[in-house]
Amino acid sequence: MDLTSLRSHNDRTVLGLVRSGALSRASIAEEAGLTPQAVSKIVARLVEAGLVEETGAVREGGRGKPRMSLRLAAGGAHAYGAYVDRDELRVVRLDLTGEVVSSDVVPLAPMFTPDDVLAALAPLVSAEEKVLGLGIGIAGPLDFAGGVVSPNGLPGWDSVPLRALAEERLGLPVVVDKDTNAAVLAEAWRRPLEDAALVFVGTGLGAGFLLGGEVHRGARSGAGEFGHTTIQLDGPLCVCGRRGCVEAVHAASSGVEAARVLGAAVRNLVQLLDLDQIVLSGRKVLESPELYLRAMPDVDVSLSSYGPDLVPVGAGLLVLGELF
Ligand SMILES: [Zn+2]
Repeated sequence: MDLTSLRSHNDRTVLGLVRSGALSRASIAEEAGLTPQAVSKIVARLVEAGLVEETGAVREGGRGKPRMSLRLAAGGAHAYGAYVDRDELRVVRLDLTGEVVSSDVVPLAPMFTPDDVLAALAPLVSAEEKVLGLGIGIAGPLDFAGGVVSPNGLPGWDSVPLRALAEERLGLPVVVDKDTNAAVLAEAWRRPLEDAALVFVGTGLGAGFLLGGEVHRGARSGAGEFGHTTIQLDGPLCVCGRRGCVEAVHAASSGVEAARVLGAAVRNLVQLLDLDQIVLSGRKVLESPELYLRAMPDVDVSLSSYGPDLVPVGAGLLVLGELF
């Protein structure tokens, strides 16, 4: 789907306002600081492209001349999102509103290769006209700009050009980001987050940061390797090759003690970055949420509003989000 003509700043602003519930052309003009004529032209383009639809006349505030109300056309564009976990591949297809329209999960055998992942992805992803692309979430470290990954805990994956390989194999645009960045994006799609960390405890342990409302990737897209901060000198060996990382100490503990380990590490994080919101997510947390919630520092702590589709949804939003 070629939407390059619809990616101007004003087009994205208008589309974002339609998404956030701005009902009519007049209210969009007011919110965006654009002239009604400019908004009419942009809306006409968005309707033409099938991204926005008219839903009928409404009287805003119950008075005055009825105005044609607008909403996103859910089926106007789609994006795929994938999560390459250490033992399985999850793939979702999102509509333009970010809702999951289909979801698949396939196991990945131990020591799986990049080619195994591409072979598993191929039947789950189709390069149709309305599909904008595929986002892939995977463990770090990785190079976000180049789409090259060297994930901890996946033996043999060293400097794999995953984005280029996937684009060639699947025939659609691909974006690759850390699983934790995808996850925090997914949460921010549903609710306002400003200075927040999404702490993800699954087969690995990491964090995605929103600072000042923007995803923080750092100078070499290495931000968020929270699981590999040392909390116990000479502690257990970690998948990253060092000892005593949060991830390794947490994995070597269980129950209340594991939750306490995470609580101490999150407390350090909150102090370091002056965060006011922590979102807990991932399989391990979902197994015993109360235990983890009780161990957290005294800031706004909540559980992720997504189930196991958190990372793949966020990965799909990396693609879909370019429209807004
Ligand atoms: Zn480590």
